[in-house]
Amino acid sequence: MIPGLEDITIDNVTGEALAGAELDVLRLDKIHPVISGNKWFKLKAYLEQTGQRGIATFGGAFSNHIVAAACAAQMRGVPCVGIIRGEEPPVWSDTLKEAHSYGMRLVFVSRTLYNRYKRQTDITGLDPGLADYQVIPEGGTGEPGVTGAEEILHHVPDRDKYTHIVTAVGTGTTVAGIIRAVSPNQQVLGFSSMKNNKGLHSEIEALLLRSISSNFRVVHDYHFGGYARYTNSLPEWMNWFYHMSKIPLDFVYTGKMMFGVFDWIRQGYFPAGSKILAIHSGGLQGNRSLPEGLLAY
Ligand SMILES: *Cc1c(COP(=O)(O)O)cnc(C)c1O
Repeated sequence: MIPGLEDITIDNVTGEALAGAELDVLRLDKIHPVISGNKWFKLKAYLEQTGQRGIATFGGAFSNHIVAAACAAQMRGVPCVGIIRGEEPPVWSDTLKEAHSYGMRLVFVSRTLYNRYKRQTDITGLDPGLADYQVIPEGGTGEPGVTGAEEILHHVPDRDKYTHIVTAVGTGTTVAGIIRAVSPNQQVLGFSSMKNNKGLHSEIEALLLRSISSNFRVVHDYHFGGYARYTNSLPEWMNWFYHMSKIPLDFVYTGKMMFGVFDWIRQGYFPAGSKILAIHSGGLQGNRSLPEGLLAY
């Protein structure tokens, strides 16, 4: 079960709005319609350890990781359990419906229990029936997730030429892998999709088991109201970006990241001659929860 890594492209974006900066987009969204983008890289090392066991993992009602794990388990023919944060909603999100359609059994647990177990490897206290399952922590975080994310930049032949590498941040696992893979003179910028998640920087340091030098920053200013929320200026901007670049973005992560990149360009953050690599971490199926017709794609 290998998604189409040969389908990854690096697309150059040009236009007046770039004000002379160079922008390339690493299209990880192309590797698979469901196990897309960074999710495949984070799951990879976990799946290598799965064998014939079932998979149990953690996520919220809009988690791309939950859908990706459900799909990966179905492709392997092993059972899969999704432990979902919070009470069961009266109407399931498209994400939950899709995960369920791949055979994932959904278990809704209170936020307190969820937070207690989301990073544990032994979750028999939560459900004794899961003793033989391989437990993947929330969002595929943890060392195997970081190791997998480190491989993302292997798909960029000329990676040393970039001055800045930007990516969207949820748990911080992907950006942790990127930080490991870059050279010290390259700047890494992580655009957080959450509102005021100010603990992220130290969580990423905890994942890397070291403090991070000055070449990394988490940007908190482009959350558009919070995780999986948006104001109308976001889909409008994503349509504009699609018209100029032909690159579709998702509204939870990559749309906010790219909006932030262009805003920083406008503000003159990037010095003349900057070469920016933006990682398109996928997640396009999440756009299905937007009202129809809002996006031009
Ligand atoms: C899950 C996800 C992220 C966040 O990745 P983390 O490793 O949790 O920081 C970013 N972009 C997309 C499209 C995602 O689905």
